[in-house]
Amino acid sequence: MDFVFSQEDEQLRADVRAFIKQHVNPDVIREFQEFREGGARGPHLRELFDKLRERGWVAISWPKKYGGQGGSRIAQYLIEEEFLREGGGLRVAGGGTGSPAILASGTDAQKDHYIPGAIASEVVFCQGYSEPHCGTDLAGIRCRATRMSGPDGDKFVINGQKIFTTNAQNSSHIFLLARTDPQSKRQAGLSVLLVPMNTPGITVRALWTVQSDPPAPVKTTYGEIRTNEVFFDNVEVPASCLLGEEGDGWNVAQRGLNLDRVGAWRYLISVHLDEDIVNYLKEGGDATKHLRDDAAVRNTVADLWTEGQMCRLMTMRSISIDQSGKPFVYEGSAEKVAGPEHGVRATEAISQILGPHAQLLSSSRHTIESGLFAHNLLGAFQSTVNHGSVQVMRDQVARKALDMPRSGIKTARKEARQEAKP
Ligand SMILES: Cc1cc2nc3c(=O)[nH]c(=O)nc-3n(C[C@H](O)[C@H](O)[C@H](O)COP(=O)(O)OP(=O)(O)OC[C@H]3O[C@@H](n4cnc5c(N)ncnc54)[C@H](O)[C@@H]3O)c2cc1C
Repeated sequence: MDFVFSQEDEQLRADVRAFIKQHVNPDVIREFQEFREGGARGPHLRELFDKLRERGWVAISWPKKYGGQGGSRIAQYLIEEEFLREGGGLRVAGGGTGSPAILASGTDAQKDHYIPGAIASEVVFCQGYSEPHCGTDLAGIRCRATRMSGPDGDKFVINGQKIFTTNAQNSSHIFLLARTDPQSKRQAGLSVLLVPMNTPGITVRALWTVQSDPPAPVKTTYGEIRTNEVFFDNVEVPASCLLGEEGDGWNVAQRGLNLDRVGAWRYLISVHLDEDIVNYLKEGGDATKHLRDDAAVRNTVADLWTEGQMCRLMTMRSISIDQSGKPFVYEGSAEKVAGPEHGVRATEAISQILGPHAQLLSSSRHTIESGLFAHNLLGAFQSTVNHGSVQVMRDQVARKALDMPRSGIKTARKEARQEAKP
């Protein structure tokens, strides 16, 4: 087993670094901050993405047939990693949520239609899974998509509500998990629909998070500033919007979630924190000397860094599974426990090391680093919940990696119900 990057990979990394130095300027960072706060992409940010596309660095690992470069998954990882680390936290290389699932489950016509659009940033998906009464318990989905025949062919009529639909305000489409069989229960009878957001009957309402007031500074690695509620009122879409088989939405959506979880982003949002604190201590001159020299502080940052490296290796493993085309069993879930929990430990340790001023938000003039450490502390907890909570991910590792039976609580409840039956 060789953990070293190839010469070609190292050259790519150097090229990306040089590009970032030349093109990621304060205007780009300002527009990225506005985008994070719910605005549209500004002209400098759009120009940067045009340049990235010219170089073939957006979705580099996607098939040439659909506008990608047919490159390796590692190359994509390296580009993501450099931008997240050196490029002000920009997420560039993956081409966005939804597209990996379309590549895995879509028809040729769907791939032809959506994938080049995603690379051109004309097609942007938001993820419509969670509902007000079901997040963890996703199989309880109530949003309905009823199939009907019409003069122009079959269509689905959608009614219901989604919640926590991040970036819905800037998305062209929603990757919607809905119940297409009204008689079905739980995982059965669900389907994924690719729904244009400009279809009549869709309403988006902002849901501001704890990171919005005061706004988290641009280098904050954790936590969304805005997410959304999305309402569907008799929304009609043609049946060709269906992704995968009707009724197989659970599998299509799970595959999509696992693919979305793979990438530098998951590990780096945690590991960034270790780097932030180490740089702060090293570059702080006399002001941080007492901390630099403190044995307890040195032990803590060494522990955090070691944990961070473990997260990185887990990410590498997932990328290698993705590259080989094999299915994920438990690996994405294990990574989704390790990364966010490392982030929580890191943010807590950092605020202990730096003391009360590190706990002041961006609005305070007494804060340090524009409130970066305090906002990361707030945001780290979000990431233990979004994209599947760490408790549920642990359960999946127990069942799928360790072959343990389903949770005892549920089994006990089921047995009690059966005993109570006359
Ligand atoms: C910032 C942010 C962005 C998000 N973006 C999106 C998005 O773009 N699209 C989307 O569809 N969703 C999104 N979500 C929703 C996210 O996936 C859900 O919040 C998550 O699945 C948890 O669901 P819930 O909020 O209903 O919490 P609940 O299901 O009510 O869970 C609350 C807590 O109880 C625990 N819990 C629940 N059941 C069990 C159990 N059986 N055993 C042990 N513990 C349990 C959970 O682990 C969690 O800690 C986002 C969430 C956040 C916070």
